[in-house]
Amino acid sequence: MPTMLKRTILLLVIALPLSAKPPDLIVVISVDQFRYEYLTRFAPYLSDGGFNRAIKHGANFTRALYPYAVTYTGPGHAAIGTGHVPARSGIVANTWLDRTTATPVYCAEDKRVVGGYSPLNLDSDSLGDRLQEKVAGSKVIGVALKDRAAILMAGRKATTAYWFDPKMPGFTSSSYYHANRTMLNAFNPSVPAVLTQHHEWTQSTFIPTTDLARLTHDPVSLRKYKTRHGNLGVEFPHPITNIDELTFTPFGNDLVIAFAERIIDDEHLGTDDAAPDLLFVGLSSQDYLGHAYGPDSLEVADSVMRTDRQLEEFFNWLDQKFSGRYTVAITADHGVQSIPEVARDLGRDAGRVDFQNPKKNATFADLAPDRRQLEKLAAKNLRLKVTDKTPVTDALVSYFEEPALYLNWPRLAAAHLDSDRVKRALRDAAKQIRGIRTAFTSSDLIAVDPNSSDIETAMRLSFRADRSGDVLVTLKPGYIWKYSNGDNGTTHGQAVDDDQHVPLLLFGRGIAEGTWSDEVAPTFLAKTIGALVGVYAGGTETRVLPCVKP
Ligand SMILES: [Zn+2]
Repeated sequence: MPTMLKRTILLLVIALPLSAKPPDLIVVISVDQFRYEYLTRFAPYLSDGGFNRAIKHGANFTRALYPYAVTYTGPGHAAIGTGHVPARSGIVANTWLDRTTATPVYCAEDKRVVGGYSPLNLDSDSLGDRLQEKVAGSKVIGVALKDRAAILMAGRKATTAYWFDPKMPGFTSSSYYHANRTMLNAFNPSVPAVLTQHHEWTQSTFIPTTDLARLTHDPVSLRKYKTRHGNLGVEFPHPITNIDELTFTPFGNDLVIAFAERIIDDEHLGTDDAAPDLLFVGLSSQDYLGHAYGPDSLEVADSVMRTDRQLEEFFNWLDQKFSGRYTVAITADHGVQSIPEVARDLGRDAGRVDFQNPKKNATFADLAPDRRQLEKLAAKNLRLKVTDKTPVTDALVSYFEEPALYLNWPRLAAAHLDSDRVKRALRDAAKQIRGIRTAFTSSDLIAVDPNSSDIETAMRLSFRADRSGDVLVTLKPGYIWKYSNGDNGTTHGQAVDDDQHVPLLLFGRGIAEGTWSDEVAPTFLAKTIGALVGVYAGGTETRVLPCVKP
């Protein structure tokens, strides 16, 4: 054998430490909006068979952080499924502005297909794509309450992705996929029965009341800062009057897990041939209720407990079917920050920055206060005259979609303004606004800079010139963007530990036991699972996690 070829084969063997026996089924679970800190804060009350299945009897990566700045659901699920950062996957946010039509584009939308959603906007291949290309007969399926979670994890060549429509109510798909309609028609009639089982969400007893007070910060006086969704209210017990409200409780996970089990059965995942199958499961309820009640609430404490028990039951079910033949990975698409008013009550610096878009025909007087300050500071810098009576059609920014400001190009043309000067003026103005950590122009991020700061590097990993906007803004720790619902609820999306640090847990076939504390990323999962099944996936900067048995 020629030396070159030998060396190539040797390199391939090193790059792909194929475990002796690939798992028949791999289940990748993303608990939407689950920060790593929940696993430590609530550790004493976790069951033996839920998260602890990996923490105590599998692999636990205690410092898994998203390396990029835009910690939203779309980018996170694309990163889990593809192993690529947003700059490469193209999913730079949940929504961005299309440059030619000047209309917002939702990350999973596809106007061509019946059902409206597909991976059309996903620009990178995925773990699932690579498995389907290389292993005949392998199936790759995604399921979640959220379309973008199921679709972006499963990838462009997925067998199918299923998501939940609370209006039906039931799971659905789009004409992009070959959905199993027989299975949907058999399962969906069982959905309304979940309501009779769960007509109320009460506080469970997994955490003793005395400990709960220490582990949460949920005084009655601060409950007005929680979001009211439907009839659920802002404290226990929460009455559940319809399926949409049910998805805002941990019982939404029951729907997803029950349907995941149905998929495994009906699609014969892990049983019908030698080819490994891949199932992505997105538990979205944690995110819905987390936005409404915040990470310090009694509700989130309860949801973490209930999710843990739901996972335990799911793993027991998998054991009975696939004992020793399956592998599970658990992670999250992002974490979350405290409700700012709760954080302030705890003595921390926190707040909401308001860049909300104005209505048509509005004037500067109608602009959200931070947005007005931005426009006025930038105008001053450019020696433009603006007053409260200036129409918003004369503003420098036409549109804000976090984290990006999009220039008002017709205004720039009419006033003969240099676009880079305007971008710099907006960037410098943004930096003066309370709660804003820093800002970058698209030109800053396009230019080569070997000495980027950490935050600039994180922003570059999130940036794509055709989608990301003209000025990108990132907030200080504790600060979040304000939404139309006012001063309640919380969110994520920043380059801060609370948003970036998530669980990365594995157990099952091919996975060694251990705890690793070196910094890794959820983007490493694609290459790691790829190594288990003998395919190469994920970004070149990612590596196989050291828990893969040789
Ligand atoms: Zn999310």
